[in-house]
Amino acid sequence: MRSLHTGHPRVRRRRLATLTALLVCVATAWIASPAATAAPAAGPVSPALVTTTAHPGNQVALTFDDGPSPQFTPQLLQVLRKHQVKAVFCLVGEQVEWQQAQVRAIVADGHTLCNHTYRHRDLTTVPPAEIEADIKQTNAQIRAAVPGVDIPYFRAPYGNWGQSPAVAANLGLRPLSWTLMPGDWELPGADVLLQRLRDGITPTGVVTLHDAGGDRQQTVDAVDRLIPEFKAKGWNFDLPAR
Ligand SMILES: [Zn+2]
Repeated sequence: MRSLHTGHPRVRRRRLATLTALLVCVATAWIASPAATAAPAAGPVSPALVTTTAHPGNQVALTFDDGPSPQFTPQLLQVLRKHQVKAVFCLVGEQVEWQQAQVRAIVADGHTLCNHTYRHRDLTTVPPAEIEADIKQTNAQIRAAVPGVDIPYFRAPYGNWGQSPAVAANLGLRPLSWTLMPGDWELPGADVLLQRLRDGITPTGVVTLHDAGGDRQQTVDAVDRLIPEFKAKGWNFDLPAR
């Protein structure tokens, strides 16, 4: 008697297939409509390295690498909050792993995230498939802290890009370079660091500093003085272009 019933599921399957096809058509039409194209892009972005701010003029973007740090990221967040400046944080996966609360604090303050590889790896000779796996693993680690968070940028450690710009762009992450890296890891003192920033910042420039990887008190102090000084001179603190 079982054979009598075998026809029914098949008919049901055919009806289901027709319905599915119809839904796919409707969905495709919806995606293709102009209104839908205004949604945030999830597809490939340009592999060209970003070296400018989003807006023209006396604009500068601050970016902070290698964090989070349990000591200096909170201090830096407080300074940025005080001066009402938004920045980019280029996070290292293995730092994120044990400091999820710091990532949540960065995002809660409205800053923008950047993927800086899982173990701060020099990508000079790394094959594309391995770079892709690293970027995905790092994104997953960041999103374990903040589900679904936007990670619009990728930055190669040491600026050794290798083949990473194309790989990152394919995954929807714009490679974020810089115009000024004033060497805060050399610990020149906050005064010297501030002077290097004064001398080196150019209109639409992107500055790379560090909020982790060593003693970053000088960085925090220099940024705390830089922002009011530049704002008083008519500068605006912008985000990098996307
Ligand atoms: Zn780095």
